[in-house]
Amino acid sequence: MFDERGKISPLPQTVNASYARVIIDRSIHRELDYSIPETFADRVSIGSRVRVPFREKSALGTVVALLAESEAEGIRPIEALVGDRPALSTKLVELARWMSTYYCCPIETVMRSLLPQVIRRAEVGWKKQLFVSAAKEILAEEIEKLRKGAPRQAELLEAVSKLKGAIPAAELLRQTSLDNQTLRALEKRGFVSLREEAVARDPHADEQFIASTDLTLNLEQTSALSAVEEALASPETAKPILLHGVTGSGKTEIYLQAISSTLARGKTAIVLVPEISLTPQTVERFKSRFSEAQDTVAVLHSHLSEGERHDEWHKIQSGRARIVVGARSAVFAPLENLGLIVVDEEHETSYKQEEAPRYHARDVAVVRAKMEQCVVLLGTATPSLESYHNAVEGKYRLLNLTQRVDDCQMPLMRIVDLRLARRKEKVAAILSEQLRAAITARLEKHEQTILFLNRRGFSTSLLCSACGEARNCPNCSVALTFHRGAARLTCHLCGHTAAVPKKCPACSQDALIYSGFGTEKVESNVAHLFPTAVVRRMDADSMTRKDAYRETLHAFRSGKIDILVGTQMIAKGLHFPNVTLVGIINADLALHMPDFRAGERTFQLLTQVAGRAGRGETPGEVFVQTYTPFSPSIQFARHHDFAGYFQQELEFRERCDFPPFKHAVLITVRSAHETRAQFSAETIARRLKEALPDEFILSAPSPAPLEKLQGQFRFHILMRGEAIVRLSRIIRETLDKLPLPEDVVASVDVDPYQLL
Ligand code: ADP
Ligand code: ZN
Repeated sequence: MFDERGKISPLPQTVNASYARVIIDRSIHRELDYSIPETFADRVSIGSRVRVPFREKSALGTVVALLAESEAEGIRPIEALVGDRPALSTKLVELARWMSTYYCCPIETVMRSLLPQVIRRAEVGWKKQLFVSAAKEILAEEIEKLRKGAPRQAELLEAVSKLKGAIPAAELLRQTSLDNQTLRALEKRGFVSLREEAVARDPHADEQFIASTDLTLNLEQTSALSAVEEALASPETAKPILLHGVTGSGKTEIYLQAISSTLARGKTAIVLVPEISLTPQTVERFKSRFSEAQDTVAVLHSHLSEGERHDEWHKIQSGRARIVVGARSAVFAPLENLGLIVVDEEHETSYKQEEAPRYHARDVAVVRAKMEQCVVLLGTATPSLESYHNAVEGKYRLLNLTQRVDDCQMPLMRIVDLRLARRKEKVAAILSEQLRAAITARLEKHEQTILFLNRRGFSTSLLCSACGEARNCPNCSVALTFHRGAARLTCHLCGHTAAVPKKCPACSQDALIYSGFGTEKVESNVAHLFPTAVVRRMDADSMTRKDAYRETLHAFRSGKIDILVGTQMIAKGLHFPNVTLVGIINADLALHMPDFRAGERTFQLLTQVAGRAGRGETPGEVFVQTYTPFSPSIQFARHHDFAGYFQQELEFRERCDFPPFKHAVLITVRSAHETRAQFSAETIARRLKEALPDEFILSAPSPAPLEKLQGQFRFHILMRGEAIVRLSRIIRETLDKLPLPEDVVASVDVDPYQLL
């Protein structure tokens, strides 16, 4: 009675359906048939949410197919229909099936991502507010008559008589300093009517958006936009578009105008941005361009309250919102009549979800666009190798913006060889002599500096110089980081914290030394070197307060901060015209990760961070501190040579059978018991070897680079191949047939980005 897993079967669309096939919100790995009661027969459709009997209880689920007949035995009826319209469109149900097949993941898990929890549970409703209005025309003598016996009612009635419509009751009572009892008395007398109405919890309700208008595009922008318009005119045949535009080339303006055209065609649009770039600034750019109706733009991100998410989602589903701006999961926004999906910063790894379903929002966007016959526009200054390869192969249409809008020069990149610096100064300083001099020059000219280091904390390890013991996390195979502000040792992987010992706990000697450094130490070092400068730090530790991020950015923009030290939080998409210097404290951090994308990430990071410098009239300068100055990623980034970098990286990938030439699939086997994890990994690998045809490459199971995480020992099995759907299916079949010990978990990651 259930589908063969992994096969996309066309969904039966029966008008006079008697049965519904339902995926319930539990991990039971199968779909169940239920009969449709007469009472709501005409309201059940694909994508409807239903309450159904399941075992001895009832459960919520989603209808994925309608059937005229069912061969299942013991069919029971659907208990109730949840919501007044289907939560998902047929297209989104189809997308869920595709994801389940491609990402080797049970469909109920996919459903969890498609429907926000607040919608699935259906426990949170609209926020209701009591509105008051006059029930009839109120005459002056009626008010006077009340005055003697009930002066307060008279006073309130007088206020009501002046109302021009309904207002929130609370507001009226506040204005008149009267109470609810008085209001109810007037209702009883038939003077006022009270009505409950749903009010939207709009996270941006109290912000004013000043309307902005289309900018006049430059030549490159004009031709890029007209290519997008062409696609919008014939979406059935349009290829996905890759917009490769250097930072500051005006990509966002193209998105905005493409969205205008989409709306003008009566269609809707989704804009995906990385969570980290979903700042008030970004939201404002969209809200103000489409400000004619407050509801036109809905925003979805992880900081919404459950109530806000409920309201934004319904605003989208009911068709009131026509543009959705959001992070990864906004790719599932339930918009009808989709015309355009924009994926900004398409190369960003945060589009990949690191828990099941382990999907990549850019790739899902491309598939959804194909299913809905809409245009997909991928924009970036540093295309991912996958997308650029697709463009070169002709699968995507490539558009280029080579000039910055302000005609500003690309910043000058200077590589600081830390090996030389070290020889000269004995101890390696955090800031090289060159970088220090450059900062001094900026301070004199009242220009601003950004210093970037992708590592938090003060010291990255605490070692005993007598016995050599390091303070490691008891749950993970990493050293604990010393945070001076919090005066604690912290594990950045599991959050474990420990007190800072005075003596070595292993040998009791007073010989502890701190080594390695993070942003906290950079900040303190910089403050020490430049005592008159205003220095601020921006990272996950210093930005815990809700408004801290906004406040710090505001202070920086208005020139109240001279030097901003931060992690990737400051690397992306922010505009600061007065920043003329960027220092990358250690370019090697990303480069030496055990990951085939390490080079790509370093190139992207350097290019993105460099894009922060020199947006105004003064050209910017970037100092890249590194121990490996001749690594290709650094050299190509230095010369702003994307094509050169792409070519050499592509050759490397081809030689090693890595994406974009082959898809990779990573199985991680974990358990609290090391030997059991290892044994299970070996068994799985053996079974896979039997099941996989020769065209697939299977690497021997090995301990993961991060051997222990949160108390679990981890082993990796890496597979590669071209026919990804086939590979996914074989993996699922193999795993389904193989009972693992209770305490062993095997997870499958298709197109993985995290190889630790
Ligand atoms: P990108 O997204 O490519 O980094 P943006 O779209 O953020 O670039 O554009 C950078 C700046 O240039 C923004 O302040 C934007 O308003 C401005 N801008 C974009 N296009 C134009 C234009 N055609 N004329 C004038 N200013 C523009
Ligand atoms: Zn830990």
